Amino acid sequence: MKRALVTGAGGFIGHHLVNRLVGQGYWVRGVDVKGPEYEPTRAHEFALLDLRRADKCLEATRGVEEVYNLAANMGGIGFIEAHKAEIMHDNVLINVHMLEAARLNGVKRYLYTSSACIYPGYRQSSADVTPLKEEDAYPADPEDGYGWEKLFSERQCRHYYEDYGLETRVVRFHNIYGPLGTYEGGREKSPAAICRKVALVEDGGEMEVRGDGEQSRSYCYIEDCVEGITRLMASDCRQPVDLGSDRLVTINVLVDIVGGVAGKTIRRRHDLTKPQGVRGRNSDNARLRSVLGWEPAISLEEGLERTYRWIECQLADRGLVAQPQATTFAG
Ligand code: NAD
Repeated sequence: MKRALVTGAGGFIGHHLVNRLVGQGYWVRGVDVKGPEYEPTRAHEFALLDLRRADKCLEATRGVEEVYNLAANMGGIGFIEAHKAEIMHDNVLINVHMLEAARLNGVKRYLYTSSACIYPGYRQSSADVTPLKEEDAYPADPEDGYGWEKLFSERQCRHYYEDYGLETRVVRFHNIYGPLGTYEGGREKSPAAICRKVALVEDGGEMEVRGDGEQSRSYCYIEDCVEGITRLMASDCRQPVDLGSDRLVTINVLVDIVGGVAGKTIRRRHDLTKPQGVRGRNSDNARLRSVLGWEPAISLEEGLERTYRWIECQLADRGLVAQPQATTFAG
């Protein structure tokens, strides 16, 4: 039985990854500063540890062959623009200590979750942006704060392979979404925020949208994300690999799709004062296809339907919206 550590196992992607690895027959230790919010963990062992501390990283990485390091202080664009110092401080500490602890404890493989936020601003200034390739990362001009830390930690992974032979894998996510993710409180990402707002607004009502809504992104459903993570870990690719969908949509289109799922006509009120991040960002999946022989397959419509139904059920359970007629949420 392979033994794996998943950090950030109380968070959105980490929790789904624990489920996937347990399902594949792994023995899994989950670590986080908090437990999963929406359902119990399936990890064989779950430890509450603050991974900004070197001694806790040593404790977390003991006796495992594989480390999936997902722990990070992060959130949507509003959060990362307002907490740059705190994010860089926490995430540099987590990643520097986790790599060193993995080396000291003789871990065989180490996967680091980077982000499309490492890509330079100068390549993302129009909404119909050219899809980003991995080599576009340099010359560097990443998202301030959060993106700089991700790029730094990517390089540290590379140097740990070059100098110490630790097999490191780096995945750059492009907007992962799905059920069991944060949907309120300021750290939620755009698909979850839009699902929540659509669920709460009445048919024909008005909903706030950040910016003019013509900023564009691509969105990858969580099941595809964990599939990609496990495939990348098993591969021999030591270069960073983008993991995302290559279907570019604007925020306005996202609102329309979710409105359609909910059966509601929504009027959009654009708030031009709110942060909206880069103007356009899409993933070029050429490396993903060639390295993994696979790419994300779940459509945005299907993924948003499952996400919307889950968020609607959460709000209904709290008495904030009416119970949906048929609760068809199937994970
Ligand atoms: P998340 O916020 O749901 O999960 C991150 C987890 O890390 C949280 O549960 C948090 O409590 C934990 N954590 C924070 N500080 C910690 C500490 N000091 N010690 C231990 N645990 C700590 O986020 P997520 O969406 O699941 O993201 C997982 C990883 O993927 C992160 O590294 C994130 O930067 C990266 N990522 C996510 C996306 C996305 O679209 N969700 C996009 C790009 C990159």
